[in-house]
Amino acid sequence: MRKKIVAANWKMHKIVAEARSYIQSLLVELGDETDVDVVLVPPFTLLQLCSEMVGESPAVKIGAQNMHPAMSGAFTGEISPQMLRDLFVRYVVVGHSERRALFGESDHFVGEKVRAAHEASLRPILCVGEKLEERAADRVHEVIDRQLAGGLEGIGPKEMQETIIAYEPVWAIGTGHNATPSQAQDVHSHIRAVIARLFDQATADRVRIQYGGSVKPDNAAELLRQPDIDGALVGGASLDPRSFAAIVKAARDAKA
Ligand code: PEP
Repeated sequence: MRKKIVAANWKMHKIVAEARSYIQSLLVELGDETDVDVVLVPPFTLLQLCSEMVGESPAVKIGAQNMHPAMSGAFTGEISPQMLRDLFVRYVVVGHSERRALFGESDHFVGEKVRAAHEASLRPILCVGEKLEERAADRVHEVIDRQLAGGLEGIGPKEMQETIIAYEPVWAIGTGHNATPSQAQDVHSHIRAVIARLFDQATADRVRIQYGGSVKPDNAAELLRQPDIDGALVGGASLDPRSFAAIVKAARDAKA
């Protein structure tokens, strides 16, 4: 059985004092939860603080929201995989739709980041998802296939099993309109079939696929009960530790 994984993408929110009090509350809320992998994904400025505060907590690990694929070099303003490892970061989100749309990241560049993450022993959370007009034009599978082919290019089955896919329909992100459980399940099972085609069935069966897009405490349980939904990538509702913890508890209790 795949262990559920729930991640909190804080995006460009929170400063030191806010992060400190959030983590204090979250660690109390979660206790020694170990049935679910919980990942906090703060902005770069808070990675060190968050790493220090979660310390050896079995419950919570730290992820970054982005990185450059080069290990070092003349890339002003960028952060390398090696720098993330240095701060005890374990996961890195790549190809978030905001980075694709606002910063022009291509599938090819996203694939470079996935490979670089594995080289540095970071687990990439590769985001894929269609825009509203692409869904309306019945192009969901075509878009997902293209993003997976580019994002997963050049990795082997072992790396694939350590990669997390986040299905995030762009129209559901930050809008309050989540995909219905059956819409999400349909795409998740398609993603798993694509991974089986690109790698093999045993690998596909091991890969964890998160759903992201307006997940909240009151819709999480139903989404997380779907057989191919193995966790959630949460934006807005992760900014409050109680609401994020409620989603983690829904993941723990979800039985397909
Ligand atoms: C996200 O940005 O990854 C996300 C899923 O945001 P929200 O939960 O706010 O829709």
